[in-house]
Amino acid sequence: MKLWLDGGLQDIESARVSVFDHGLTVGDGIFETVKATDGKPFALTRHLDRLTRSARGLGLPDPDHDEVRRACAAVLAANPMPLGRLRITYTGGHGPLGSDRGEHGPTLVVALGETTRRPDSTAVITVPWTRNERGALTGLKTTSYAENVVALARAHQHGASEALFANTVGQLCEGTGSNVFVVLDGEIHTPPVASGCLAGITRALTVEWTGAKETDLPLDVLERADEVFLTSTLRDVQAVHRVDDRELPGAPGPVTAKAMRIFGERSGDDLDP
Ligand code: PLP
Repeated sequence: MKLWLDGGLQDIESARVSVFDHGLTVGDGIFETVKATDGKPFALTRHLDRLTRSARGLGLPDPDHDEVRRACAAVLAANPMPLGRLRITYTGGHGPLGSDRGEHGPTLVVALGETTRRPDSTAVITVPWTRNERGALTGLKTTSYAENVVALARAHQHGASEALFANTVGQLCEGTGSNVFVVLDGEIHTPPVASGCLAGITRALTVEWTGAKETDLPLDVLERADEVFLTSTLRDVQAVHRVDDRELPGAPGPVTAKAMRIFGERSGDDLDP
């Protein structure tokens, strides 16, 4: 297996970044996960735009899109697989302990892992911890994901694959690695980006393609929604069949099933002209 580091392809076994890389020591980094089917990345332009937004939010230099594109193409060509997840990591780079930021320029790593299609439906839990809708990192896809790791571990303990957060004012926000949608009286709703959620790429496409409304929703909407579904790069549109102790029998329900069908059809469109 090969990955991209320091401007070229390297063997995964021998590739090294500094132990003082600020991505490691203080989480000063950003990332993207991009789905690649038969070597073709999905919606790469949107991922690169979000990478730049995240970089600017952290005060990192703008990533060079041409280099990231070259890196993705090289890694995909070197590691053929039917369904892969490209991981683009971009950090503040390394420097002496205690320095504000790396002194050797940013670190860019592009790696590829194999993945599989997710099941059509899954179980989720809600967690008591909140997303801060007004934090310095709100909406940025940073490598400071420890809170998500903790919440996801709790989900796994409860036989669920995702944990959902409310924000500090009790509104439904998002999952650890997904956005959330609910169906009420046949209409699809999802929390607005102002709720503190990540501006998910799958979320934006789902809103565009299904006409879902962006609505402030209290967390307890999950107790009465007719249907619930998640969106993310690796889940696409995935129905929810249990929220905490509440079963949603028959998931995917009709509205979710239609959203899944539309997403499946439209995601074949070339989004990277
Ligand atoms: N929310 C969070 C916190 C995420 O990490 C992710 C995905 O990585 C998403 C939502 C879904 O975003 P996307 O559809 O771009 O994968």
